[in-house]
Amino acid sequence: MDIRIGIGIDAHRLVEGVPLWLGGVEIPGSHGLEAHSDGDVISHAILDALLGAADLGDKGVLFPSSDDTYKNIRSTQLLHASMAKLRAAGFAIGNIDVSVMCEDPKLEPHIQSMKHTLARAMSIQPEQISIKGTTLERMGFTGRREGIAALAVALLKKLL
Ligand code: MG
Repeated sequence: MDIRIGIGIDAHRLVEGVPLWLGGVEIPGSHGLEAHSDGDVISHAILDALLGAADLGDKGVLFPSSDDTYKNIRSTQLLHASMAKLRAAGFAIGNIDVSVMCEDPKLEPHIQSMKHTLARAMSIQPEQISIKGTTLERMGFTGRREGIAALAVALLKKLL
């Protein structure tokens, strides 16, 4: 079996008064991620991991921020759209693992909801996605609550 691995990373700045979208789920709170899209770093990291594994470029090429079609778009829609490209290239998702670096909010209460939402967007099973949060012990930009970052790894199986 031909398998391919990909990695994706993303970070956005936390600002007051915008909604916080992570893993396709809106998390209540005073701050959200500033972005052209919804700033969902989990979805963005996954997107780049998938595209990387399939050698299809990156999300900036496929969904350029200069294109107003993608302004304020839900990132799960981008994930959904990228699946057609992955399938056309003969790939199916094996599994996805994500680490999210943030001091707060606590992600744990939202993990199952994120897994189900992301799985639906990619037409896979929630069990194929792992999401876990970590603080970086108050170090760096995530530690200072200036932003949230996510790192994703994706395994693809070549079917064709
Ligand atoms: Mg991004």
